[in-house]
Amino acid sequence: AVESASDSNGAEDQLLDELLASSVHDRSCLSRYRSAPYRRESPYKPSADLVKSLRRYEALHKSCGPQTEAFEKSMLLLKNPHGGPSRCKYLVWTPENGLGNRMLSLASTFLYALLSDRVLLIDRGKDLDSLFCEPFPGSSWLLPPDFPLKFRAVFNKTDPHRFGNILRSRSISDDVPQPAMVYAHLSHDYDDQDKRFYCEADQKLLHQVPWMVLRSDQYFVPALFLLPSFERRLHQLFPQKEVIFHHLGRYLFHPSNPVWDLIISYFEANLAGATETLGIQLRIYGSENPIIKLVTRQILNCTWGEKLLPLPVAHNSTGIPSQKTVSVLLTSLHSEFLGRLENVYRGFSLGISFHQPSHEERQQTGREAHDAKALAEIFLLSTADTLVTSAWSTFGYVAQGLGGLTPWILRGPVHAAVPQPACVRATSMEPCFHFPPNYDCAAGGFLETTTVLPYTTQCRDRISGLQMV
Ligand code: GDP
Repeated sequence: AVESASDSNGAEDQLLDELLASSVHDRSCLSRYRSAPYRRESPYKPSADLVKSLRRYEALHKSCGPQTEAFEKSMLLLKNPHGGPSRCKYLVWTPENGLGNRMLSLASTFLYALLSDRVLLIDRGKDLDSLFCEPFPGSSWLLPPDFPLKFRAVFNKTDPHRFGNILRSRSISDDVPQPAMVYAHLSHDYDDQDKRFYCEADQKLLHQVPWMVLRSDQYFVPALFLLPSFERRLHQLFPQKEVIFHHLGRYLFHPSNPVWDLIISYFEANLAGATETLGIQLRIYGSENPIIKLVTRQILNCTWGEKLLPLPVAHNSTGIPSQKTVSVLLTSLHSEFLGRLENVYRGFSLGISFHQPSHEERQQTGREAHDAKALAEIFLLSTADTLVTSAWSTFGYVAQGLGGLTPWILRGPVHAAVPQPACVRATSMEPCFHFPPNYDCAAGGFLETTTVLPYTTQCRDRISGLQMV
């Protein structure tokens, strides 16, 4: 918990142990240097290698990014693939699915850009530019509006630029002239040919192509360790495997000023005074009773069983009221849980208060005001001292990673009775990669990725998922 977050100005804290460059001191992005005091201090320091790599990347981005000569020249290649070599290579990320999925795949894509010396640019979709600040000093990560490729129209299953299709038609090899652009489809529905992205020989071919468009809704960081050419570097960058998203997320995602305003005003009004904050992130599928009733029971069984909340009984035998106050921050699309939980504690002076910033009722990704609330809530959850999250939810994964918190996961996500136990502790704070490639590069066909990578395990909330530990 934070006593006076807005007063704190510790210069070292602000830079998150040099994760952030110190050169951006303007008021266009207040959250960049002001987030640290709202969160628990992170015991996880970025490695010197990571810090160095980030500064090097920032310099590369500045010299190759939009509005540079190199960028203009490289864009010409998209019209005329044989227009000569380009100094810079690009990685264009395109969004898919909800905000949590987007943030996980964007962080993964950024790491791939670092490893493959590409400059990351993003297709802003409907509103990403209004949600996030520019992360790279003195440059932009937004594709300019006049960029010649139109993402909605192309990059579908049958697109001839799709890497899987290129491999199928054998139109890429060391003997054929390189295309100017390739589309890597790494979403949950990728097929075996697309999965060859994670094979060393194919990665070598991709390395030559100046423009790569990448679409994914996954946290695919663990699979980058499958590539021997990246593996050594990854170990240097991240000696601690369970804090990769923690660092990447804190480096990349700075809420824009309007979203920051939402975060701070809610925090100050509802959470700042408490001794402790417990975040409970509820992502449920189906909002009608008895699901609401079941999940409410599940929350209580979990928080009581794990002693995250006290039982609502008349106070302790000493008669001295507890000095401790706990704010429970509830996030959900649905409004019904708040009242039910408040009712359980009504009449007991245990210092517990419940707070829910919004209840949007349904997902409306792409609506700016809706996405701003989602981002604000992810961020608010990341300020909690303890987290309870929902199985399978990337929304929760982002919050836990940014906060540096290993959550208790409400088991599910779909059930007809309250599960026993109601929740389990995650193995690490890392997000779960829901659809790992499980592809055998040597023989083709299925190969369980967990058996190849030692510092990974199955996810507690998804047996077929892969998680760094
Ligand atoms: P996932 O579907 O749980 O993996 O998470 P995503 O973030 O990818 O997609 C769910 C989307 O639904 C979010 O991005 C929000 O738009 C919305 N949503 C889900 N849960 C919440 C919530 O607790 N609060 C708010 N404000 N929006 C939510």
